[in-house]
Amino acid sequence: MKIEKPYVVQREWMYGYFDDLKGFDTWEEAFQWMCDTFDASNGDDDYRIKGPDNTAWRYHAYRLMRNYCPVCHKAVRNMDFAWTYDCHGIQMRLVCGKCRDEIMSKGYDGEYYTAADETFDEDW
Ligand SMILES: [Zn+2]
Repeated sequence: MKIEKPYVVQREWMYGYFDDLKGFDTWEEAFQWMCDTFDASNGDDDYRIKGPDNTAWRYHAYRLMRNYCPVCHKAVRNMDFAWTYDCHGIQMRLVCGKCRDEIMSKGYDGEYYTAADETFDEDW
């Protein structure tokens, strides 16, 4: 039976093959239901939200899985983690989006440093 809703949550049962699960009127409702369904599952499956005009958003299982943010210790989906950068634009650490915004609001993560602060081991 074809689902007559603009947004359809699908589950991949074989690589590249998706089954329709449920239809929704809005993307937000579809996304929420997909997340709840993933959380209640064994966590192995990839999902997709199919929208109007052949648009689709694909979510791999590892992006939907949760991990703990090292700063606030909340369980956050992998896709919601973001890098912080130090004062020279070098990647520092992965934290949740909320902590990233707080940390990066001062412009960089960690302490400000210059090349003079870097120590080199003479034996290298
Ligand atoms: Zn956090």
